[in-house]
Amino acid sequence: MLLLDGKIASQSVKESLIIETKELIAKGKRKPHLAAVLIGNNGASETYVASKVKFCGEIGFTSTLVRFENNIAEKELLAKIEELNTDDKIDGILVQLPLPKHISEANVINSINPDKDVDGFHPVSVGRLVQGLDTFIPATPYGIMLLLEHFQLTTKGKHAVVIGRSNIVGRPMSILLSSNIPYGNCTVTICHSHTPDLKEITLQADIIIAALGRPEFVKGDMVKEGAIVIDVGITRVDDASAAKGYRIKGDVDFKEVSKVAGAASPVPGGVGLMTIAGLMKNTLAAYNRRNP
Ligand code: NAP
Repeated sequence: MLLLDGKIASQSVKESLIIETKELIAKGKRKPHLAAVLIGNNGASETYVASKVKFCGEIGFTSTLVRFENNIAEKELLAKIEELNTDDKIDGILVQLPLPKHISEANVINSINPDKDVDGFHPVSVGRLVQGLDTFIPATPYGIMLLLEHFQLTTKGKHAVVIGRSNIVGRPMSILLSSNIPYGNCTVTICHSHTPDLKEITLQADIIIAALGRPEFVKGDMVKEGAIVIDVGITRVDDASAAKGYRIKGDVDFKEVSKVAGAASPVPGGVGLMTIAGLMKNTLAAYNRRNP
């Protein structure tokens, strides 16, 4: 089985971003600049944002971390986003999700300048994705496309089954895989919590994208011999024997699935790393758009 190692694939994206950033600096241009907004002190969100800020430093981007308490008023958050929208030195804005319950996710996403929407969640970005126009692809599906590209996996004409239909992973993933683009051109089935007989469907899949947030949900007997299995899931599962008191589990039972799959991505060390790579590629694209 081919291990779809996100460490290797993201390192390769990182190296190309380092070269591109050095070229910009050599031309006397400023560095690309990502602003990350973090609200509250959710442990997972803190970790994600810290990884993004670290990656920026490693590739030579500038980053600004804007932190707010959990009880920040929506109005105050929107005012800060507007400030970042109009700041010429900021190329990309990401607001780490999930947000506190009293803040409307839709209002926040809609308030980001579409030219700086490096998470690709704004309706303008989504509409452009659907129409096959140049856009910011949501970072996780983008990262998965980069993973497929790195390992040069053939997707054309294949049956892809995407489990999960969220706006940030499943739905954009299904659009990309069905699009007439490199590493697309699949016939796509999208499944969700109302899909009956899921196993019958996954057994027909040449490619499975598991993005449902249910630890080790995809078992070996749900996978066709030789299939490509991409695990998007990240769930913290309590484990007293682990140093942190929890372990990160994916949506795929890797031990079982690796015995039947032709290729599979691990968790951790798979899609999570590629998501950051996708975000950084979007940030550079935003910079290039704004500084032609
Ligand atoms: P989400 O918004 O909760 O969506 C989950 C989707 O899975 C929904 O469409 C849901 O169906 C479907 N689903 C739930 N249980 C199911 C079942 N038993 N059978 C079939 N479908 C089922 O989650 P998300 O934001 O897409 O994230 C999914 C997972 O990916 C989570 O573990 C998350 O932490 C992880 N994630 C990882 C990255 C990364 O960088 N690796 C990035 C983002 C998310 P309904 O629509 O019917 O409810």
